[in-house]
Amino acid sequence: MTAELNFEDLKPRVNAIQEVFQQKWERFRYFVLDHSDPKFIEHLKAEWRSGDSLLDMAVEAKDELERLRIELIGKKSELAALKKDVGRIRKEQRGIAGQAVNNLDIFIGNPLRDAEDQLQRLINKLRTESERIDVTLPGRRPRRGHLHPITMLRERIEDIFVGLGYAIEDGREIETDFYNFDALNIPENHPARASQDTFYTTDGFALRSQTSTVQIHAMQRRGAPVRMIAPGRVFRRDTPDPTHNPMFFQVEGLCVDRGISMAHLKGTVAEFLRRMFGPETVTRFRPSYFPFTEPSAEFDFSCFKCGGVGCRICKNSGWIELGGSGMVHPNVLRAAGVDPDVYSGFAFGLGIDRMCNLMYGLDDIRLLFENDVRFLEQFD
Ligand SMILES: [Zn+2]
Repeated sequence: MTAELNFEDLKPRVNAIQEVFQQKWERFRYFVLDHSDPKFIEHLKAEWRSGDSLLDMAVEAKDELERLRIELIGKKSELAALKKDVGRIRKEQRGIAGQAVNNLDIFIGNPLRDAEDQLQRLINKLRTESERIDVTLPGRRPRRGHLHPITMLRERIEDIFVGLGYAIEDGREIETDFYNFDALNIPENHPARASQDTFYTTDGFALRSQTSTVQIHAMQRRGAPVRMIAPGRVFRRDTPDPTHNPMFFQVEGLCVDRGISMAHLKGTVAEFLRRMFGPETVTRFRPSYFPFTEPSAEFDFSCFKCGGVGCRICKNSGWIELGGSGMVHPNVLRAAGVDPDVYSGFAFGLGIDRMCNLMYGLDDIRLLFENDVRFLEQFD
């Protein structure tokens, strides 16, 4: 049996623990306030200024406070030892000694736990704030793209011709000499081969220099009568400049039936241009030459901008040159297996990019092919 102790023996230890607490508590004393109290936050910022954010500071402060609690009232603390020693106090003093030690436990323990609790609340609040999704913020809308201006224009042209009873034909971009030249009445050594010079593969195939090739295929496949347009990409051996590009877009039309005349051609082109540029649009035809049509005519339309008065777009002429046309040459019909004694037809063609340039007032055709989004997104 260990020797009995007097309460007086324990008092210095009680005081010592109290002193240590009061000294170390200085750093935490404001944390018993409500965590939203300005003094609470001010104190945190003043004492834990090394933290990157208020949340960091609060987490650090709470960790430190937890260590202090273990040190002061934990199982291995001086206070825990003191509690054990109460049992060794003389019986008549044991009650008052136990009371004193309990009071000390409460005196230290309560503010420590309160402070820890408030710090934890602050940490929870700051974490929630940093993770919260503000449902009132407008959402980030995904950027909507749109079709390329050439595609939009091509679709408009297609709509008009479908409305006039035309079929839309697609064809290959790599052709044989026969389809690109011979069948179009451009025999070898014909001067038109030079102006329509294109790119060739090592096997002697050519990148088509006009979409007329599709007309030959269509007539061969479907025979006459036929009414079709062929929009698509064509190639020429041109050096790129503001008005030329080695690759560009054309649309060609073909109508073959019994008794088709120049009047049908004029009526069709004029109607197309009226639907494209408005009912007041006037069309004119000028005699011209193309190997695949006879007679041939180029067609112009009254300027959609100035209505024929004269402006920058029409170069003050009031007219805009748009394309070529004519009655299909009998040799072309024959090459496609259509009897020119029974059938006749007209054909026309125009450049989609050229039309795009005109309509949007572009001064460089190459802009359409560079795929610079800053340029293209203006056409929405
Ligand atoms: Zn004009």
